[in-house]
Amino acid sequence: MTEQTNALLHLIKAEPSLLPAAPDPCSAKQMDHRRIDEVHVCLGCGERAQCVYVASTDAGPRWLDLCRKCAAPLYDFT
Ligand SMILES: [Zn+2]
Repeated sequence: MTEQTNALLHLIKAEPSLLPAAPDPCSAKQMDHRRIDEVHVCLGCGERAQCVYVASTDAGPRWLDLCRKCAAPLYDFT
């Protein structure tokens, strides 16, 4: 896990309200729609996001938009 990703996860945990709320429950179709049909920037570097995750936070499920590079360390993140 990179320092940048660690900081990102720390920030999400501390301030989940900074992220857009995700549907609950979130279907694969909704995730595909966000990833393919919508344009979002990577939370880590600002490039176009190519991956989308839903993070469970104290504030409920939140979208995590990331490019492939920034998402790589998060594959084990649930
Ligand atoms: Zn990125």
